[in-house]
Order: sequence, then structure tokens, then C-alpha cells
Amino acid sequence: MSEDFYDILGVSRDADEDEIKSAYRDKATDYHPDVSDDPNAEEKFKKLQKAKEVLTDEEKRQAYDQMGHERFEQAEKRGGFDGGAGGAGRGGMGGGGPFGGGMGGQGGMGDIFEQFFGGGGRGRQSNRPQKGQDLRTRLTIDLEDAYEGVQKQVSVRRPERCDDCDGEGHPPGTDSHTCEECNGRGQVTQVQQTPLGRVQQTQTCRHCGGEGEIYAETCSTCGGDGTVRREATLSVEVPAGIQSGQSLQMEGEGAPGPNGGPNGDLLIEVEVEDHPDFERDGDDLHRQEPISFPQATFGDTVEVPTLDGTVEMDVPAGTQSGETFRLKDKGMPRLRRRGQGDLYVQVQVVTPSDLNQEQEEALEQFAEAGGEEVSVDEGFFEKIKNSL
Ligand SMILES: [Zn+2]
Ligand SMILES: [Zn+2]
Repeated sequence: MSEDFYDILGVSRDADEDEIKSAYRDKATDYHPDVSDDPNAEEKFKKLQKAKEVLTDEEKRQAYDQMGHERFEQAEKRGGFDGGAGGAGRGGMGGGGPFGGGMGGQGGMGDIFEQFFGGGGRGRQSNRPQKGQDLRTRLTIDLEDAYEGVQKQVSVRRPERCDDCDGEGHPPGTDSHTCEECNGRGQVTQVQQTPLGRVQQTQTCRHCGGEGEIYAETCSTCGGDGTVRREATLSVEVPAGIQSGQSLQMEGEGAPGPNGGPNGDLLIEVEVEDHPDFERDGDDLHRQEPISFPQATFGDTVEVPTLDGTVEMDVPAGTQSGETFRLKDKGMPRLRRRGQGDLYVQVQVVTPSDLNQEQEEALEQFAEAGGEEVSVDEGFFEKIKNSL
């Protein structure tokens, strides 16, 4: 049924955050619904996101490891991570880990989860600095840009710290009073009896959002969030050799982190447009090149366009239509590696359609010869060559 989050990401149980994120990035590229043609891509992508979300959050991961997958999912369904119910209990025994001992009490799994994950309404539930959300955007470039590498501008609407309140959520100098729910501590401690044993947890005060102060006014610009959504334009280096579906990561260009935490990252998914003349296959390119009947018959040197100027290609005598020739190292550069792919040129022999009388006669003679070389006189090929 449900797959273990570690299995989904393909990491070991002691993988650190970097390993998990890197595994996520690799897999997310394969399953991004906009890119993958796997019919279950969207579902797989969601599972990946979920797995990453849980395993990169220290508290959620701890809960997950302790409960196991099934119970974690059940508890999540029942409690939700962000439902707001329940007045916080008061008093208690100070800090301690999430499963530290304590006095009895009431409560179900949902409450534990709210404690772990900071239940309640919006914004700052915890005073802990946290990394901001990663944001995603897309960038379309043409094949020439993917060949050369290019610097591009990307625009992204993202939350940024509100200037009017300096990210505080209330205008500077607003009247305030000490929060009566937590007496200004910003935290309340709760002890509960749960199926996992007694749980004592200090959690952020919901009444004041952990600030310990209640403000008379909220900032009208950001509605108290401390962030506003703005359009930002950023310059990104797209490396040569990039392929559709690959993502570039701009560190620190995502959403601001709560409580002064570091910004999240911006992930830019690149799409390389199809080219009218070149078809791409990984690092290799393919193109079709028309050649004339005499060129195919007698051989010639033809000019073939590449993404880096034209090159000369020898077409040997007796070339058939549809034959493919390889031009080594004339394909795409390899992403962040040395070397280039190859260019495969498939020649198409163009059948002449407007012959004059002399040409027609020459071809008729050719047809009558029936391919028997002996019956063709000496000057025959020369004659055809000159006439076409
Ligand atoms: Zn409070
Ligand atoms: Zn504001």
C-alpha cells in the first residue's frame, strides 16, 4: 500500500538533509508532471514532495521515525498539521523533549501532531528560525541557447519581507500589551496522556503567535504576515548542454525563512524548445539534408549547417536516399563535462521534377540500361552529370 518515505526517495534511514534533498531533486526531475509522460507522474511527484517535506523537517522526521509510516499517516489524517482547534493547556514542567515524562492529561494523536508541527492558524507558530519555502518557476530557451549557454532573466512572484513593518506584521510604534495567555513568554507548556505515553510539550502560544505581545494594529500592507508578494526579476546563468526538464537551483532566492531563518531556494525548470532543423537526442543532434540526384550518384562535398556554423561533409558516390552520416563532435556540448555529442546527417535524395528533353533522354537511356553496368557506354555518367 503506502510506501515508506525513505523508499520513495531511495535514501537510507540515516541519510542527512543534503542527501535527502539531492535525492528529491533527482527524482523530482523525472516525475515532474509537466515533463514526465508517466501517467502516474503527478501522484508520484506528490508522494516525493510529501516524503521530502517530512524527512527534511527535523520534528516531523523524528515523529515519523518513532511512529512508522502507517501510524504517521493515520495521525496526520486525523489531526492535520495545521488545524487550529483546542485551547492550549497551561503551566507544566518546563521544556524537555517531545516524549519526555510528565503529568497525565487528555488528548489524542491529533494534538500530538499539532504540538510537533505547530498547529494553529497562520504564520509564526514557532520562534525557531526556519528555512523558507522553495519556489519553482519555468524558463524556456531555444536550442541555440542550450548549445552556447546563456544568461537569462526570470521573473517570479514571491513573498518578500514587508518593508512597511520591517517584517514584524504590525506598524512600528503600535500600542501593545503583554499576552495574557502566556504571560509574555510566547510559549505554553502542555502535558498530555496519549497512546504513545505521556507527552509534555512546550509549544508556541497561539494567542500571540509566540511574540508574547498583542499588538493593537496589524500592518495593512501585509495583513500581519510580515511578507508581501512581489515580482522579482533575477538573472540566471543557463549552462551549455542543458536539457528539457532539468532544473537550476538559485540558492536563497526562494521565500524568506520564518523567524529570521534563511531564505528558501528558487528552482528553475528549463524547457528547451524544439528546433525546426535539428532534432535532439540527449547530446546528439539529427538533421536531414537534401542532396541532388547527381550528388548522390557521383559523390560530392556538401555544406551542412551545424549549431556552430557550416561544415563540409563528403557524400560518397552511390549514396542512397535515407543514408545517415555521422559528424563527430558536432552535436550538443555535454552538460558540465568536456566534449560534445555527434551530429547525424540523414541525406534525402531529391528526385528531379523538371527535366529538359536532353535530361529526359539521358535518364531514359539509364532506365533502359536496367542497371547492367556493361551496357552503359563510357560517356554515360559524364553525360548525365552535365545535363542535370
Ligand atoms: Zn501569548
Ligand atoms: Zn507589513
